[in-house]
Amino acid sequence: MRILGPDVGSQACGEEGAGRMLDPNDIAAAVSDPDFAGAVANGPLAGKTVLITAGPTREPIDPVRYITNRSSGKMGYAIAAAAHALGARVTLVSGPVVLEEPRGVEVYKVETADEMYAVTHEQIASADIFIAAAAVSDYRPANRADQKIKKTNDTMSMELVRSPDILASVAALDDAPFTVGFAAETENVREYALGKLVNKNLDMIVANRVGADCGFDYDDNAAEVLWSGGEKAFDKMPKSELAAGLMDLIAARFFATRGAETQPALSIVSIKE
Ligand code: C5P
Repeated sequence: MRILGPDVGSQACGEEGAGRMLDPNDIAAAVSDPDFAGAVANGPLAGKTVLITAGPTREPIDPVRYITNRSSGKMGYAIAAAAHALGARVTLVSGPVVLEEPRGVEVYKVETADEMYAVTHEQIASADIFIAAAAVSDYRPANRADQKIKKTNDTMSMELVRSPDILASVAALDDAPFTVGFAAETENVREYALGKLVNKNLDMIVANRVGADCGFDYDDNAAEVLWSGGEKAFDKMPKSELAAGLMDLIAARFFATRGAETQPALSIVSIKE
């Protein structure tokens, strides 16, 4: 049972305080929320755990500087919300972003690729599906200066070392979950994506073009999803809609490839008059 209201404000009797009826729009919004209606408990991914990485990472150079990228985290956060709406238990491992945490989702905030790797592997044993939407920094400074680096010479160079590949390391586990990667590319999107699907041994890859007017930090996104034996294209649409479409597809492929599992029918919630 969940109680909505009362609202706070001026009352018909002239007093101020709690006692007003909630705005009908707020009541309508609350009861149409999947959580409230009970759809989540009966959703197709009820009882399943989805682990998602999102956002950029920050690789410190010194106490005041770091290497990062343009990822906003919007796509990963939208996927987390969409997975929750399908009834999954959702864990989100997030780099630094300025987004509100999706409701009902367990969020672990991290900064570096190493931290994201560690938290992901702490959580992976319970995951049925892993979706790597994070834009993990490929390289990090080999050494982090303890003090702010001063400008002395006209040029400077910095040694960078490769970050661990979180997605590939998860896909290589003996009991790997259904594993989905992203390929954000500025060119040859399909070709690079297919390469990652095969080389990283993924169940599915979501390819999208990033650049002047799409992808990173935009609210809309288009994507081409590829897997062994199939593909599906999503035209440019709001990331929340794309996330819902992707999660439906991921859930369908998850049940199709994990033989012993059967996909439960989505039960209709009935409301007593
Ligand atoms: O190899 P590339 O970075 O292009 O692959 C992108 C995919 O791999 C994304 O799903 C991204 O989240 C994941 N990735 C990762 N760890 C890295 C690099 C990429 O999980 N160090």
